[in-house]
Amino acid sequence: MKLAARVGEVTPSLTLAIAAKAKAMKAEGVDVCSFSAGEPDFDTPAHIKAAAKQALDEGKTKYGAVAGEPKLREAISHKLKTDNNLNYEAENIIVTNGGKHSLFNLMLALLNPGDEVIIPAPYWLSYPEMVKLAAGIPIIVDTADTGCKLTPEQLNAAITAKTKLLILNSPSNPTGVVYTPAEISAIAKVVVERDILVVSDEIYEKIVYDGAEHISIGSLGEDIFARTIISSGFAKAYSMTGWRIGYLAGAKELIKAVSTIQGHSTSNVCTFAQYGAIAALQGSQDCVEQMRQAFAERRKVMLQKLNEIPELSCAKPDGAFYLFVNIGKTGLTSLEFCDAFLEKQQVAAIPGIAFGTDDCIRLSYATDMASIEKGMDRLDKFVSSLQ
Ligand code: PLP
Repeated sequence: MKLAARVGEVTPSLTLAIAAKAKAMKAEGVDVCSFSAGEPDFDTPAHIKAAAKQALDEGKTKYGAVAGEPKLREAISHKLKTDNNLNYEAENIIVTNGGKHSLFNLMLALLNPGDEVIIPAPYWLSYPEMVKLAAGIPIIVDTADTGCKLTPEQLNAAITAKTKLLILNSPSNPTGVVYTPAEISAIAKVVVERDILVVSDEIYEKIVYDGAEHISIGSLGEDIFARTIISSGFAKAYSMTGWRIGYLAGAKELIKAVSTIQGHSTSNVCTFAQYGAIAALQGSQDCVEQMRQAFAERRKVMLQKLNEIPELSCAKPDGAFYLFVNIGKTGLTSLEFCDAFLEKQQVAAIPGIAFGTDDCIRLSYATDMASIEKGMDRLDKFVSSLQ
C-alpha cells in the first residue's frame, strides 16, 4: 500500500515499544524489571475514581462540549490562577485527550509548512515528531554542555525569521532538570525581545524535590504571558495515565482554533472521565504529596546505587521521575546498551538516542522499591560484565 509521505518522516515511539516488549516478556513469565515507563505505578486515588463512577451512574455518557465540561474548564482556570499565578478564564482553556494531544493540537493550530520550532535536547521524544507531522521544522539545540538547560544565548542564536515557537519542558523528561526562576526569566526575556511564542509543558510540575520551585514562564509579566501557551495534564501528578486527560491554556483565539481542529478529530474527551479530573483538582492534594514523597525516596535509592557504579554518571535531578544516566565510558551506543541490558539482565531502559542524546540512557523510578533494588543490582552486574 502506498502510504502518505508523512508516515515515513516520523519515528515510532521507542519508549512505548520498549515498555510493550518488557510487558510481553513479563506476561511470558520472565522476571523483568522495567525502568522504561513514564508512568506512576500507583493506582489512581480512590476519590477520583469514585467521582468518575458517580458520573457514569448519573448518565454522563453523552457527547459533551468539544472544549470540555464547563465545570472542568472552570476548575482548571482556578488551578492555574491559584497554583501558577496565571490569569486564564475558562474560554482560554481546552480539555484534550492528554498532554500529548494538547501539544499535537497546538502544532496543527499554529504551524505553517516550514515554520521552525526550537526544541532543546535532550527532549521528550514526541516533540520533534509532532512538529514534523504538522509540516513544521524541528530545530534541535543541544544543551549537553549547559547542564541540559537551554541558555538565553543558545535561544537567541537559534532564532531565525522562520521561528514560531519554543518548547520548554520543566521539570524535564528525560533529564529531570528544573529551571530556576532566574533561568526561566532569562528565557522569557529573549522570547519577548525576539517576539516568538513559547509552549510550556508543565506536566511534571508537581513532582519536584529538595525545595526546587516550579515556576510558570507565563507568570513573569504581561508581555511573556501574551506569548505563552501552557500544556499540562493529569497523568503524572494524579496517576491518571490511562484516563487520557490533558489541557491547553492560551489566547482565546488560539483555543478557539484548537477547538475547531478537535471538533473534527476527537471531539470531547470521555465525558465521565472529566468528572474524575474535576475531583482531582477540587479534592485533597494529599495524594499528590504522598506520591511525590515516594518518588523522592526511590530517587534517593536509585541515585545511591548508581553512584556505586564507576562507569556510569548522572546529575542529580530536581524533578520528574527519571535518571538520565551517562553511559559514555562503556563505549556502547544507547541502543546497544539497552538491547543488551534487556537481553542479558532482563531490565528495560530507554536509549538516550530517542531523546536526542546517544551517550545516555533513561531510567524511570516510577516503579516499586523492590524492583529498583533488584534492577540496579542487575545494572551493576551488567556494566561489570562489559569489562
Ligand atoms: N509531556 C511530557 C514531557 C511527557 O513526558 C508526557 C508523557 O510521558 C506528556 C507530555 C504526555 O502526557 P499524557 O499524554 O499522558 O498526558
